[in-house]
Amino acid sequence: MIKARKNEKKQGKSVLVAFDRDGTLIYDNGYFGRKDNWKEEVKFYKGGVEAIRALNIFADIIVASNQIGVALGFYGPERVDEINKYLDDTLQKQGAKIDGWYFSPYIEKDWAKKNGLDLNSPWVLDTFPETRKPQIGMLKSAVADFGKSLSFYKKIFVVGDSLDDLNMALNANAIGIFFENKRNDHLLKEVESLEHSNPGKIFRVNNLFSAAKIVKSLSI
Ligand SMILES: [Mg+2]
Repeated sequence: MIKARKNEKKQGKSVLVAFDRDGTLIYDNGYFGRKDNWKEEVKFYKGGVEAIRALNIFADIIVASNQIGVALGFYGPERVDEINKYLDDTLQKQGAKIDGWYFSPYIEKDWAKKNGLDLNSPWVLDTFPETRKPQIGMLKSAVADFGKSLSFYKKIFVVGDSLDDLNMALNANAIGIFFENKRNDHLLKEVESLEHSNPGKIFRVNNLFSAAKIVKSLSI
């Protein structure tokens, strides 16, 4: 996995929150960063900056993002780095601090075959990538970078707009918060079924600040 950026973090926080990037922190029309003028397209979802600022007080915060666009050849990992740095700077200027940025550019061989990709690409792995959501490799890397382990944390949350985000949460024995961004209504049925089969583990919000409130209420 490629670690895009890691900021200094404070020791001792016992809550971890992982935000998805595309479709959660920022609007995404598909493979964000594919266009060279991506900067003009950066738009944060309402409530995100406030949510991060509120969470900074008691939680380690990371951004964990699947970046299949790299494997598909739409852009290179340096584009992802560049975007993450830009988002990080923009957030910092508003007093919102992300403790680490993580992304996975990898896909598995079967998927690559189905999609006619070069199997010798460095982004194609034999089996499903441990770093790719819904697997929990990015969470593991982050906590290792923080000098902690997953079990160190009292509570872990994953906030995102896709089923992969919720399943990453469940795979990490964490709490998943589904962000309804008006573009993912087609997932609601499956989200509801996850809610039913995992009582108390799955929540839904339509504003990121509401996600921060849920994190807070479950963390104190
Ligand atoms: Mg997303």
